[in-house]
Amino acid sequence: MRRLLGMLFAALMLAPMTGGLVAGELTALARLDPTASSVADSAEGLGIDLTIDQPVPYRVFFLADPPRVVVDFREVEFAAASPAALDRSARVRWLGFGPYREGWSRLVAELDGPYRLQSAAEPRVGGGARISLRLVPTSAEDFAASAGAPEDPDWAVPEAAPVELPKRRQDGSRPLVVVLDPGHGGLDPGAEAGNLREAHLTLSFARELAEVLRRDGMIVELTRGDDSFVPLESRISIARAAGADLFLSLHADALEEGIATGATIYKLALDASERAAGLLAERHDRADLLAGVDLVNQDDVLATVLMDMTRLETTPRTDRLAARLAEAIAGAGIRLHRHPVQEAAFSVLKAPDIPSVLLELGFMSSPADRERLVDPVWRAAMAEAIRAAIAEWAAQDAAEARLVRK
Ligand SMILES: [Zn+2]
Repeated sequence: MRRLLGMLFAALMLAPMTGGLVAGELTALARLDPTASSVADSAEGLGIDLTIDQPVPYRVFFLADPPRVVVDFREVEFAAASPAALDRSARVRWLGFGPYREGWSRLVAELDGPYRLQSAAEPRVGGGARISLRLVPTSAEDFAASAGAPEDPDWAVPEAAPVELPKRRQDGSRPLVVVLDPGHGGLDPGAEAGNLREAHLTLSFARELAEVLRRDGMIVELTRGDDSFVPLESRISIARAAGADLFLSLHADALEEGIATGATIYKLALDASERAAGLLAERHDRADLLAGVDLVNQDDVLATVLMDMTRLETTPRTDRLAARLAEAIAGAGIRLHRHPVQEAAFSVLKAPDIPSVLLELGFMSSPADRERLVDPVWRAAMAEAIRAAIAEWAAQDAAEARLVRK
């Protein structure tokens, strides 16, 4: 019933908006006023009040494990707001908001237990509106009965691209296809330090690196070209659809002070024991989970036997890619982690047929790394080192491919 209620708001609000739009008419993006917005506790429960300079269609629903309330809106500009500034609630464990799908924004609050929607209203305030939601605690049974994502064909996670295996290995006879994956984005900002956001940093570095690689004749695609949210599974699908010869995920995460500094290269391991690797993998997957992505199992696309055989061939190629990266980065005089090549259970590296590595450019938790990450001279040197590593790897890899074929 409550789920229906949430959907009803959407239906009521959507009709006049979509009907009223004239083709070609320019509509300004709705903006959140952070000074008149809050997520705060009340005597009975939780209040979410979002003041926006124009009314927007929205919908509310709950997700379980962990309990979350999700609010989707027609695109809202959150730029001036930070989750930390908006969140004044002891009942909220995590708050995130930002772009979710093209034309749509999402706010997710992880709750400290089961809640239900007591009321939802969008009164006009001045020339704009305020989305005003009241949540009250409820029983676990009631929550379980009402929680679930609404059906929405527009927002389905893209289907995994059909796979023709084995993908023909690159042998130097055509340009190398590199897919760069700027970590995080949209309502998942990644690590934050001061006004620095990992999602912005990885995107700007990926753009710079793409230019350097293209000048060397490589074909480069990015898994995201703006500050939007892309689920981990979709990032693999994008790489596969692009016919990637290699996949490089770019990050600059934060870990507790002292356990991580310097560039670090990660390969896939399903049972990595390193604590830092475990923390990072958990955090990356958690962002997807909290954002409300229904995880589909990419592995299902491939028959297990075929997958194992393919991985058998891909693993040493990935090992060599990681080794070349570590050598080139060290050779450029760039600071590396004392264990530069590590293993982690990163979902984004799970394509069995594409050599995939994740590069932590540095760690935002380290002040020295932070300084380097925003230094254009350092960034140019890092991009050039990556280019050199990829070029050398591709030449060796192609030679081996030709040998294997004979
Ligand atoms: Zn990251």
